Amino acid sequence: MSCVLMSTLQVAENSSPEYEVRPNVRDARRDWIAVIVLVLAPLVVYGSARIFPELVERFYSRGVYPYIGRSIGSVSGLLPFSLAELGLLCLLALTPVFVFWYIKSVRRRAESWSVRAGVLLRRSLCALGILALVFQLMWGLNYGRLPLASTLAFDRSRPDAAELEHIAHEIVDQTNRYYHVVHNDDPSKGGSFDDQAALEKSIEESYSKNRLLPWPASLGGFASPKPVLLHDLMARFGIAGMYSPFTGEPNYIETIPGFDLPSTMAHEMAHARGFAREDEADFVSFVICTSSSDPRLKYSGYLSGLRVLSQLAGSDPQRYRELAKLLEDGPKRDLKARYEFWARYSGKTSYLGNRVNDFYLKANGIKSGVKNYDEVSALIIGYFRRFKGTSPQEEDYARVIVTS
Ligand SMILES: [Zn+2]
Repeated sequence: MSCVLMSTLQVAENSSPEYEVRPNVRDARRDWIAVIVLVLAPLVVYGSARIFPELVERFYSRGVYPYIGRSIGSVSGLLPFSLAELGLLCLLALTPVFVFWYIKSVRRRAESWSVRAGVLLRRSLCALGILALVFQLMWGLNYGRLPLASTLAFDRSRPDAAELEHIAHEIVDQTNRYYHVVHNDDPSKGGSFDDQAALEKSIEESYSKNRLLPWPASLGGFASPKPVLLHDLMARFGIAGMYSPFTGEPNYIETIPGFDLPSTMAHEMAHARGFAREDEADFVSFVICTSSSDPRLKYSGYLSGLRVLSQLAGSDPQRYRELAKLLEDGPKRDLKARYEFWARYSGKTSYLGNRVNDFYLKANGIKSGVKNYDEVSALIIGYFRRFKGTSPQEEDYARVIVTS
């Protein structure tokens, strides 16, 4: 009986054209199908999000994403250190071990180098496809949401020099004012930016009270911002902060000048709340800081808002020079301290960091790349036009009409 069965199987194997294909060729075909599916999947998700930003806004950014971000953040938030940093260090440490193990394991098999290289290529593409898909679903889709300027119905027409001067003047005045409040009129006091837990509490409070920014800005429960241990290395790459979507953690360098801590922490916390684009995270940070009752946040926010001046410099250099004279010595010293801090780290590594960031932003549909940071000026101008630079809080929520 078994002989009959064996001979039947042999006949079937010999006569079927499928079995004329060698096993490793069959494996390669199957792997290439997997590669195509796994590389196409994130591209389809990415492309669909760009076609339907309203659906992304409604069902993802204000729908499932807040639950995803808060769930991951609540797990990583149990740790007092950055899980993303630890994971990255482990990955770097384990890479040589993996390479050694891989070379050793493939040497044992009787395969040519071209077959081995093909297998490695297919597996790498599959891994990249899965990584890109997980990134899109866990946070990356927020790049495809509606622009904040249209959600908040901002007037996006180009301002003339007089209007720019008026807005920049207001920011300069507020910067001078809150410098004195923070330093208690004593420039020898360095300001009290050392208590990062208190700064975070003030930022969270301002987020929870804000009624201008779309949901889930006012929602709590996202992971707290965490300082990284390798701050020197991160500064060398020209990065003050970074949001890790895979761990839901806003990370930042605590060694930057103290007056920049609130705006940097609020920026990374904006990313955690689903504001992915850099100009929008900067704008959210500006609104959160300047509408806070904590003068340290106000000073940090207005100091970051001085970027509007550079737009005035391009539009009317004479008006810019006149206005720049109104900025007092205290804030000027702080701007110099900021410049000197980053100048210490400028070099080939910071250039590389800038290029990688530019590539990453462009790959996520931000056409301007790293110039996206400077586009915050247009949002600040829209904000001053509509709300005179005063963010509506809980008590005057009824006055505000926010389109969505
Ligand atoms: Zn950012």
